[in-house]
Amino acid sequence: MKIKNQYYQGNGVIPGIVIGRAFVIEREKDTDTHSHIVSQQVEIEIDRFKNALKKGFDELEMIKNKISADHKDPGHILEAHQMMIQDEELQKQVIETIRHELVNAEWAINKTLEKWKTLFLSVDDEYMQERISDLKFVSRRLIRNLSGKNNYIAQPPPDAIVVAKELSPAETIQIGKNAISGMVIEKGGKTSHTIIIAKAFEIPTIVGIKNITTEVGTGDLLLLDANSGQLIANPDVEMVQKYRTRMHKALAFEQNLLKQSAKPAKTKDDYTIKISANIDFVNEIEAANSHGAEGIGLYRTEFLFINNFRDALDEKLHFKDTLKLLESSSISPITIRTFDLGGDKFPLEADFSNEPNPALGLRSIRLALKERTILKSQLRGILRAYIKNHSVELRIMFPLVGSMEEFLSAKEVYWECINELLQEGHDIPDNISIGTMIELPSACMISDHLATKSDFFSIGSNDLTQYSLGIDRNNDMISDLYQPLHPGILRLIKRTIKSAKNAKIPISVCGDTATDPIAALILIGMGIENLSMPPAYIPHIKKLIRNIELRKVEKITEQALEMQTAKGIIQLFIKNFEEAIDDSRLKYSE
Ligand code: PEP
Ligand code: MG
Repeated sequence: MKIKNQYYQGNGVIPGIVIGRAFVIEREKDTDTHSHIVSQQVEIEIDRFKNALKKGFDELEMIKNKISADHKDPGHILEAHQMMIQDEELQKQVIETIRHELVNAEWAINKTLEKWKTLFLSVDDEYMQERISDLKFVSRRLIRNLSGKNNYIAQPPPDAIVVAKELSPAETIQIGKNAISGMVIEKGGKTSHTIIIAKAFEIPTIVGIKNITTEVGTGDLLLLDANSGQLIANPDVEMVQKYRTRMHKALAFEQNLLKQSAKPAKTKDDYTIKISANIDFVNEIEAANSHGAEGIGLYRTEFLFINNFRDALDEKLHFKDTLKLLESSSISPITIRTFDLGGDKFPLEADFSNEPNPALGLRSIRLALKERTILKSQLRGILRAYIKNHSVELRIMFPLVGSMEEFLSAKEVYWECINELLQEGHDIPDNISIGTMIELPSACMISDHLATKSDFFSIGSNDLTQYSLGIDRNNDMISDLYQPLHPGILRLIKRTIKSAKNAKIPISVCGDTATDPIAALILIGMGIENLSMPPAYIPHIKKLIRNIELRKVEKITEQALEMQTAKGIIQLFIKNFEEAIDDSRLKYSE
């Protein structure tokens, strides 16, 4: 018998109140499946391999039968995979590897497919290259069958509340597309990329409830209030009724805010702050428009190919994606950030995800400069789209720049692309700006130098906080130490603003810090005139700004910058702007 009204408290990281059935994501731990065998085990391994082949073929047949007749393409792909499974040469080579190298079936499959992959890669033919991902899918299916494990997360039904220990950004994209109504994740910081993706899908989310995946089961009724971080499992009828009332109040509040979202964020003393949107997918442009965005301050391009990393090299993909963005947007400028992979953002099939310290490793611009062909494909694709449609202003920026050399190298790649396109006979529009994302303390400290070579700055406060404080932005165990308003960070930001103003270049903040009303006030008090944030937060921050006087905010910010702790700074702002801050947030009394 389930206990009624079981309460859990976590951190609400994406607001919203929803009622739904739990869908618990279960997964088994990965173990190393490679092992040596002795000659007596050879036939056993060959039998295991043959069974896995049969099971793989049958599974594909079953999936094929489930696809309706009007979806010929997936059926076609599945047939190609079946043909690979039946390929006699492949079977022969795996069996020979088991026999001669005395390795288990899993290892033999890997070894054989690696050889095939090298062979395919050496042929300069698009069709052959495409087959590499098919090889990977087939080998995964076989290895999964051998170990009896399931590497893929099951797809939740629409309206489910997904409950998981942790989710990668790539997995979040997969499940987010299923129109789920909420998420409860045990592990994950407020500004982790998983949460950023969930924000793009506007999924109300709570993090940090320990062992919730064992506390609730699939099918349990859940009330999720991500505004207060509260989760209630198996509620009784009265409780459901109470939550329904809350939901309606929250909805009415949001709708009221939305009605005013097209109005500018003009302070009581007549200063206007420009509010733009952060988007992770092109189709979010609609949400940006409907929530009153006045530009796109950050388009995170990496999610376009995170589930198909090989696509990153496809210039056409970047071209089409950018063109769609440019064609569907009437707001300007559009700020496109070149791909930012690594850290906590790995493609599902990444080969580079096993670094000891990914956040300090081959990430962002470092990876892009190492994989210049990808960066070039992306920049060429973006530029070709802009050549075709340049009705709005385009800004391109590079993430996680740590030094002058890095920024200049990235710009060199940009100029290489421009020169190639000129030689190919294109006219390049002249209103493209190239900017630096300021996300590292080193970049803040040399912001005066960077400003001489940049057309604009955009402060990525999520990473700036992580790298200044040495606090992993994904780790909920230390989330209380993740303080974007730490006096040290405010000093770094202040220095950067000064550099931008001296060089007369625009500066904006596009990290999630700006979604917090107190932080938004401090940023504008320090002289930031452009904020960019996920669309859902825009109406709230616009309302806040309409309720304050900039001159007063500047005065209080000056005092705040003298304070020793983030806590003191927060209290100072609450004391002075309590009403405006409260009015921008949802409140309900019961
Ligand atoms: C940031 O770090 O603040 C930022 C905007 O980039 P991302 O969140 O994608 O790392
Ligand atoms: Mg960043």
